[in-house]
Amino acid sequence: MHISHRNLFFDHIAQTSDFPLALEIIKAEGLYLYDENNKAYLDLISGIGVSNVGHRHPAVLEAIHTQLDKHMHLLVYGEFVQGTQVQLAKALVDTLNLPSNSPYGVIDNVYFTNSGTEAVEGAMKLAKRFTGRSQFIACRNAYHGATQGALSLSGAEFFKNSFRPLLPEINTIRHGEIADLHQITTKTAAVIIEVVGGESGVREAPSGYFAKLRERCTEVGALLILDEIQTGFGRTGTFWAFEQESIYPDVLLSAKAMGGGMPIGAFMASNQIMSVLKSNPILGHITTFGGHPVSCAASLAALNVTIENELASQAKGKGALFKKLLDHPKIKIVRGRGLILAAEMDSFNVLKSTIDACIEQGLVTDWFLFCDNAMRIAPPLTIEEPQIREACAIILEVLNR
Ligand code: PMP
Repeated sequence: MHISHRNLFFDHIAQTSDFPLALEIIKAEGLYLYDENNKAYLDLISGIGVSNVGHRHPAVLEAIHTQLDKHMHLLVYGEFVQGTQVQLAKALVDTLNLPSNSPYGVIDNVYFTNSGTEAVEGAMKLAKRFTGRSQFIACRNAYHGATQGALSLSGAEFFKNSFRPLLPEINTIRHGEIADLHQITTKTAAVIIEVVGGESGVREAPSGYFAKLRERCTEVGALLILDEIQTGFGRTGTFWAFEQESIYPDVLLSAKAMGGGMPIGAFMASNQIMSVLKSNPILGHITTFGGHPVSCAASLAALNVTIENELASQAKGKGALFKKLLDHPKIKIVRGRGLILAAEMDSFNVLKSTIDACIEQGLVTDWFLFCDNAMRIAPPLTIEEPQIREACAIILEVLNR
């Protein structure tokens, strides 16, 4: 018999809100999560952008088992040659072997981290060290992580006010507003931006915006850091979202789905940029567990599954089907592309009661950190038409009540 951990969860797990979902999930497979009564929940949020290849993908499990039989942690980052880590770096830079309009050419170096926020921290240090500047520009309502450097970039005041002083010299611009790009100047170390804003509630920029942004960064010598922590690994319809904008970043960030369900992140840049981490000071960024071999094995498998099964291009049609089916007077708009979508409703109250009823009906969904009137629709990319129809039918039925 299963013993519930619910009370112990509330007693001993540090709580970060008064209303956690508090479902006890004891197994997850493919598109579904299962609770202690074996009730199945269709996962419409992928652990927030993580399970792009589904839960417990067999290729990911096999890669983990194989790696476990070889070795786990050996030594702090960057000292030993670890085959799996090297193979993953090569596979990642192969995805980046694309036409580049970065002044620094193509990205061929990967620094592995434990998480997304650590990738942001590493990239900020890299940009400061490489440019000799200290100012950063980020977007209003963007989320880049919870550690203090990444939090400084957060464009939502309520989220950071209690933690001041944070980093100085952070300016915010509006995502997609060409008129704000003049704020990027020769004082700017880097601009950090998502191609599609995730936690702002899936915000896209008008066509031509990213080309102008790229031009401005090049003109003033600021690095362009693209945060693809939520959009990468196929979610938007191409392996990286920037491929749809005909631009190339100077620094690229990944995490979340990169690990196929294991924790890993990365900041990536050309050898020219990355090599500054070797001197003044030596060991410019260090980590014990970054690029853990078991995470690297899982990541390499997830990357191969994504490419071999063409999950990115399939995400386009699957997203379009969601948009077509979610036609309801209580849904004002469905924003987004591929399988990063936001269904906007009138208010948080309407949304919250819809989400609660969906969960009741076995469909897990959510809202966004900085947008509380839109439903998050970001299932594993392995979702198929019957489950898309099932998910939409539940949402529409709940909205009709
Ligand atoms: N950047 C973006 C765009 C994200 O969506 C997130 C996580 N929601 C992060 C950074 C931070 O990643 P992590 O939670 O792994 O630190």
